[in-house]
Amino acid sequence: MFTPHGNHLIAGAWAPGDTRFHSAPASGPSHQFSVGRVSDVTAAAEAAEDAFASYGSTSRAERAAFLNAIADEIEARAEDITAIGTQETGLPEARLQGEHGRTTGQLRLFADHILKGDYLDRRYDAALPDRAPLPRPDLRMMQRPLGPVAVFGASNFPLAFSTAGGDTAAALAAGCPVVVKGHSAHPGTGEIVAEAILAAITRCGIHPGVFSLIQGGNREVGAALVQHPLIKAVGFTGSLAGGRALFDLCAARPEPIPFFGELGSVNPMFILDAALANRGTEIATGWAASLTMGAGQFCTNPGIAVLRAGAEADRFIDTATAALSAVAPQTMLTEGIASAYQDGQRRVAATAGVRELLTTSCNTRTAAPYLYVTEARTWLDNEILAEEVFGPLGLVITADSDAEMLEIARALQGQLTCTLHLDDGDTAQGQALLPVLARKAGRVLANGFPTGVEVSDTMVHGGPYPASTNFGATSVGTLSIRRFLRPVCYQNIPAALLPEDLRQG
Ligand code: NAP
Repeated sequence: MFTPHGNHLIAGAWAPGDTRFHSAPASGPSHQFSVGRVSDVTAAAEAAEDAFASYGSTSRAERAAFLNAIADEIEARAEDITAIGTQETGLPEARLQGEHGRTTGQLRLFADHILKGDYLDRRYDAALPDRAPLPRPDLRMMQRPLGPVAVFGASNFPLAFSTAGGDTAAALAAGCPVVVKGHSAHPGTGEIVAEAILAAITRCGIHPGVFSLIQGGNREVGAALVQHPLIKAVGFTGSLAGGRALFDLCAARPEPIPFFGELGSVNPMFILDAALANRGTEIATGWAASLTMGAGQFCTNPGIAVLRAGAEADRFIDTATAALSAVAPQTMLTEGIASAYQDGQRRVAATAGVRELLTTSCNTRTAAPYLYVTEARTWLDNEILAEEVFGPLGLVITADSDAEMLEIARALQGQLTCTLHLDDGDTAQGQALLPVLARKAGRVLANGFPTGVEVSDTMVHGGPYPASTNFGATSVGTLSIRRFLRPVCYQNIPAALLPEDLRQG
């Protein structure tokens, strides 16, 4: 059984802090963890910069072996990781096991991806010495790693979006050392995963500054990390408020750096007329299941359903209400998240023109579903109803016409996902909506629910603000490596000086 010691991991050594904070697990014993200090940030960032001198020039094969070794070391600790992860987050064991597979799977996917070499986007303009009026030099371009990257994981994915999650895997694959700011909701899970990364560092003979974990316990440490001059980019998954605060700090630095924040989203679903008539009850039941999965604590949770008012809509609402009322309260990730859920629910309930369909009771760390309905005009007139409520809360919006549905689509803020439910008779309305929704979201989908995010070459998990702070990027899938690379053109550089990957013509 793993018992955390609570220290930071800085450049290969476990370092205690001056003060400790207590973890607040959903079950099991609380442990003490070192509170991160600005001096820890400095030590980790300097070690990362040291490591970059060698790690930034490792071969793709060496980095692939390192990523695979991290996956092996995580697998070797699977049972302990699941045990402490379940205790700290309150998520069920099966969820932790699934996330474990996703985490090791994405490390191995990045290993395969860099071995193929396409991500380097190598380009070559051969020299044209005889060109008139001016000769052209030998020009070669490839993507190079940025340097040390700071990573902030989210509370709701203690493995796949945390210490060795997608951001860390993408940065290490690119050739960037990583400094993780540990999430205070799962510090023990962070520690055991850091232990696995350290074992892989030792096994592969990599510079130990390539990875550090600084536990949280205060907000100062995160702010210091994004402002440290040696940090060259930030990968963040979490709340809009936290992400925006850190994004602003990055932009205000003397040398501004990119901040890749994956934030919140309400993930609207548009249920078109024929689909509603043919499959309304099936969609309502599927929606209830998607909305309550993991206590609704998914960034892709479909919080809003838009459909045409009428008898079919009433049937949809009745089915969804019945399905949601059968869902028992679930433990939330932290008391803070449970209390924010209650605040969000009160905000929706207090809006004039919103009717409550299902109300439930929750304690200080549980959430049960809420369901509300409102008309399109009320939603359009109340910006507050477009904000994410993190948890299993659903809002049905009834529209009177196709035009009103389109107006809702146009009024949406940036989203991670937008969904269409459509059948044969819905093609024209679908054709009108899809281009609008594709402007709003990183992923548009039909006849499904957005909660499952495939980790693959084509996945885009991002979108216009506030879904993310950078609409050109994704935080899931192989394309996410681009965030930690920048193009460098090598002009007339002798072969002996060129990076290995650029030597062939
Ligand atoms: P969070 O409260 O924003 O925390 C994320 C991390 O940022 C934590 O390490 C936190 O430190 C730190 N942090 C937050 N505000 C800060 C500030 N002002 N200064 C310095 N550090 C700060 O988010 P969360 O509770 O983990 O996640 C829930 C939210 O994330 C939901 O809104 C959800 O929709 C969103 N989310 C988005 C995605 C996505 O892919 N877009 C995925 C999952 C979740 P502490 O450890 O001290 O709290």
